[in-house]
Amino acid sequence: MQGRQKLTQGGMLGGRGARALVLAFLYCFFALTLSTVAEAKTAKVLGARLGVYPDKTRFVIDLDSEVDYTYFLLPDPFRIIIDMPEIDWSAPPGKVTSGGGLISGLRYGLFKPGTFRVVLDVSKPALISKIFTLPASGGKPNRLVIDIAPTSRDTFMAASRESMAAYSARQRNDTSVTEKSEDVAVETGKTTGPRKPLIAIDAGHGGVDPGTIGVGGIYEKDITLAAARELAKVLTDSGRYRALLTRDKDVFLKLRQRTEIARKNHADLFLSLHADSISDPNHRGASVYTLSENASDKEASALASKENKADVIAGIDLSEENSLVQSILIDLAQRETMNLSSNFATDMVRELASDVKLQQRTHRFAGFAVLKAPDIPSALFEMGYLSNPTDAKLLQSPAHREKMAKAILRALDDYFKTHKF
Ligand SMILES: [Zn+2]
Repeated sequence: MQGRQKLTQGGMLGGRGARALVLAFLYCFFALTLSTVAEAKTAKVLGARLGVYPDKTRFVIDLDSEVDYTYFLLPDPFRIIIDMPEIDWSAPPGKVTSGGGLISGLRYGLFKPGTFRVVLDVSKPALISKIFTLPASGGKPNRLVIDIAPTSRDTFMAASRESMAAYSARQRNDTSVTEKSEDVAVETGKTTGPRKPLIAIDAGHGGVDPGTIGVGGIYEKDITLAAARELAKVLTDSGRYRALLTRDKDVFLKLRQRTEIARKNHADLFLSLHADSISDPNHRGASVYTLSENASDKEASALASKENKADVIAGIDLSEENSLVQSILIDLAQRETMNLSSNFATDMVRELASDVKLQQRTHRFAGFAVLKAPDIPSALFEMGYLSNPTDAKLLQSPAHREKMAKAILRALDDYFKTHKF
């Protein structure tokens, strides 16, 4: 939301030079969107490099086969986003992640099935002056070469708007993006007997959005996925629940997609798993959050805005939602749901308390976007602090995650004793 509003700021083109640059940019953009490389096998990344020159920064990805690509630009912060068909980037990125020249950072991951996304953070407004692929030759592999040159903010803003419009038009024409979100969701524990409650387990972050990065470079997205899988197993093994994983792989999901998956599958409860980080390495402990109308707790709302950033980072949502209608609908349905969510959170805190170190005020309220399904009781579990060595170690331990899962199972048993499903 924030990103979209900011897109409409920005001034008009500044002068003829700027216009020529934008036209050159547009020409490249359309030319490259039209050139489709027939690609059957998944290209594998062999490595990535940065070259810093006086007039440009060159970013090169080495691949074992040819790859198709498109790109667009986003401001505030300035980013260049390159989308490719699903590729395999398991090779270590080396020093490139910390940037150099105009590039201040690199992130990448599966954005959605079929689309791999590379995000280049640029330290100031910059345009792609050249982008091209080179076939393997002379012992060198296939290469995707991206040259980035500085520009003015106005030129960047104009180029960004144009690139977003082209991206949006392409999405409308591209049937592969109408792909159902359930494609990445996995349900377990189905049986033919009486209906069992369906628990939607949402592994926070994923794909191009790593979430917080903890001590030893562990990614929140990996911890949440491991914990989600273990929780699903504990719940289905009990024979009393079905589990729905919003994602069972390292893929990016928009926050709204996560609740949509739960709603489409008629989940009875939604639990989002996360881990936090903070500058104080001694700070540790888990917390359970539910939604409130006005996030009055300062810390809780700061955390919510941090978690909600995922969509600004990479989930560029170009579908115009009517936020007023949405907020009225949410308001009507949400009061009852908020009470149920709160009941479940209380059960969770009580059961977790015997096994897990909790923060002092542990059931807190905040405006998490991911908890806004108006009709499904929802909670967000911050399992601990990846910035704390003890918490980080525990959260990497399957035994500890199982302990948390069993506490959640007891909480669910309590909750469904008094609430129908
Ligand atoms: Zn998170």
